[in-house]
Amino acid sequence: MTTKKTCECRLCKQREEFVSQLNILRKHGLDDSVKYFEDIYLELMNIGMDNDVNKSIIEGSWPTADLNIKYARERYENRNN
Ligand SMILES: [Zn+2]
Repeated sequence: MTTKKTCECRLCKQREEFVSQLNILRKHGLDDSVKYFEDIYLELMNIGMDNDVNKSIIEGSWPTADLNIKYARERYENRNN
């Protein structure tokens, strides 16, 4: 018998708890609620990734950080044109 090693990082532990909570909702037939919370969770993950990318751009560790900032400023300057 093998024991499955689970990752102990914050995201994996959070995901594990999230799936556990969804399973409770499923047991009660609350499929609309499952869909609702899955959508929110996905949105939260996307926001988290955007934040990580933006943080990397600001600190300069993102490979195209300078270009991203340059294009964003150009878009901003041209927003009313
Ligand atoms: Zn992990």
